[in-house]
Amino acid sequence: MNKSKLIIVSNRLPVSIEEQDDGRTILKRSSGGLVSGLREIHDQSDSIWVGHLGRLPHSSSMETFLEDHNLVDVAIEDEIYDQYYNGYANGTLWPLFHNFLATMSVSDSHWKAYVEANKAFARKITEIISPGDRVWVHDYQLMLLPEMLRNNQIDLKISYFHHIPFPSSEIFRTIPRRKELINGLLGSDYIGFHTYDYARHFIQSVKRIIGAKTKINEITHEDRPIKVAAHPLGVDFKTFSREMNPTESNPEFFKDKTRITYLGIDRLDYTKGLAERLESFGKFLDLYPQYRGKVRLIQVCVPSRQDIESYNDIRSSVERLVGKINGEFSTADYIPIEYIYRSIPLEEVIDLYQQADVMVVTPLRDGLNLVCKEYVAARTDGDGCLILSEFTGAAAEMGEALQVNPYDIDTVAQTLHKALEIPKAERQHRMKVLRGRMEENDNIAWSHNFIEMWDHHNQEGLVTTKHLTHNQQLRLLAQIKSADRVFLFLDYDGTLAPIKDRPELAIPDSQLDELMSNLKLFPNLITSIVTGRPQDFCDQYLGTYGVHIVAEHGAFIKLANQPHWDQLIRVSSEDSQSLQIEIMELLESFTNSVPHSHIETKETCIVWHYRESEQKFAQGQAQVLGETLEQMLNKTSWSVYHGKKSVEIRQSLAHKGYGVEKILDLFSWQEGQDALITVGDDTTDEDMHRVHMDSNQSIHIGNENAYSKYFLEDPAGLYDFLKRISLNL
Ligand SMILES: [Mg+2]
Repeated sequence: MNKSKLIIVSNRLPVSIEEQDDGRTILKRSSGGLVSGLREIHDQSDSIWVGHLGRLPHSSSMETFLEDHNLVDVAIEDEIYDQYYNGYANGTLWPLFHNFLATMSVSDSHWKAYVEANKAFARKITEIISPGDRVWVHDYQLMLLPEMLRNNQIDLKISYFHHIPFPSSEIFRTIPRRKELINGLLGSDYIGFHTYDYARHFIQSVKRIIGAKTKINEITHEDRPIKVAAHPLGVDFKTFSREMNPTESNPEFFKDKTRITYLGIDRLDYTKGLAERLESFGKFLDLYPQYRGKVRLIQVCVPSRQDIESYNDIRSSVERLVGKINGEFSTADYIPIEYIYRSIPLEEVIDLYQQADVMVVTPLRDGLNLVCKEYVAARTDGDGCLILSEFTGAAAEMGEALQVNPYDIDTVAQTLHKALEIPKAERQHRMKVLRGRMEENDNIAWSHNFIEMWDHHNQEGLVTTKHLTHNQQLRLLAQIKSADRVFLFLDYDGTLAPIKDRPELAIPDSQLDELMSNLKLFPNLITSIVTGRPQDFCDQYLGTYGVHIVAEHGAFIKLANQPHWDQLIRVSSEDSQSLQIEIMELLESFTNSVPHSHIETKETCIVWHYRESEQKFAQGQAQVLGETLEQMLNKTSWSVYHGKKSVEIRQSLAHKGYGVEKILDLFSWQEGQDALITVGDDTTDEDMHRVHMDSNQSIHIGNENAYSKYFLEDPAGLYDFLKRISLNL
């Protein structure tokens, strides 16, 4: 058997094209945080990298280069590529995902080209994959690809990483092809984002748009559990942290060492907040005249997407602003803004980072932003100051930076001033903590971590729900017939009683009465009703059935021969332990990024404290943590509370699974000898399905469910099955 392969897929191959003196073009491997992070994986695991090479006359030397480096080119016609890449990916998805709704263009031909290009990738990958292979798809150009690959019916592990922000569902649902895009991504079995916020936005969008069930950062789609996780990309720390050694390449920048330098390096893009930054700098000079002549801003703009008209508009407006501010504050020997419009080589970039006193990174929205991390990596002298927009993905990990709202011109101007006034010891301390974190979480750690977590998810195995058909029922009945006793746990609403518009209408009818009195006849059938309903409802309507009753989702129990209700004392279950591990992992990652925060574990709760942390940043992170936990713990026995400078996660008393466990305990249920069947229709019933999962013949009413063995369409189907049980016992 062949070893399974890893296939990395990105829009472009990680190569750049260089023209030589004799006019021939050659290929070279390109650099960059993502590319170098993946290259390590690519080189180590002899994976294949699939991407578009661009329009080039293919020569035999190029073919050899591609082959030698395990690179596979996806050929796409120019016209299609332009509409796919410039049109849909960068004209529709890019602005939408960065919250620039008004800039989003909607064109049917762009969408068709996007589908076409994704198909071209799918075809090429299908040519080279074998069953069992892993395919790791990258970024918003290829959102449809996971589903296309999944539809090939080949056994594949598919993951996807989204490198730009994922907007809130309110914004995302404005896009006309929202369903197709969501379904495209759900072809994956593992989906990564840079931050918990994006992951949460995605899950929320999936819920709202296709109504899929979600639980613990997991989406259930077409009977598959899909894990959604946060993996912030790191930078190539080693490369950037070279010794300080200004090259002779850019004397123009630093000939005047007497001035304090602010630095901005950005791709020229409307998401980068360039106009706002320049205005803030102008405001700073206005507010603090003592710094005129002493402080300058070097702003590097790297040309980008020049095929798109709106990008040329930004360029002219940025240049107009530079002219205006320079016009206002220049003197004979002082130009406040040095504006550079070109791409600059890596060596020069590192020089700039190492010389700049203050790095200003203030995008209006940015999926992550690597510039701020590169700056930190480059500061081998342990000095320098970072001003960072709170709307970058990196902000969640960089609490020691001076964080700003880039739209707030006045406050940014004040922060530009504050950066100059911070005592040296504090500035260096902040930098030290940042550097430690960036070194530990570099780009290589990122790719290894992603693959490790993805493999882990795959190994957890998939529970496949079978339709409880007639034949399947006969098989199941034969199995339980040989059991000593059969323990049957039935949910009420939606399971024994069809869902009604108003809950007070869902009262038992004669059909249910008859069914229950039939079940009562068999002494080795131990039936319980486990419901969310309160005790008085159970007394009034279910009291005569002679079955055990668990009310209020496991808070109270009343045995068949017992006149009163008992409150259930909670016992810890395996499920709650695994959930607890997930909660701890999440808390640990927040503890890592919020200095001086810590975790306290108590018997019934876990508390994340941040009273000793920098408050503004920590409060923001506590908010993100709270929202992430709330989504993760939705409909579990855990709930989230915001305390005083703490976030508390408490296990609530009620849990249907506890009710089941309690009754099994009371009657000394024996695995292997006694049978267990749980039946329910919603997520609270999954807690019952998860009790003794291996031997539990769990039945979900409705459709497939990741936690149950079987499913039946509706209560009527269940009635038939229960009748069959009573005929067979
Ligand atoms: Mg129900």
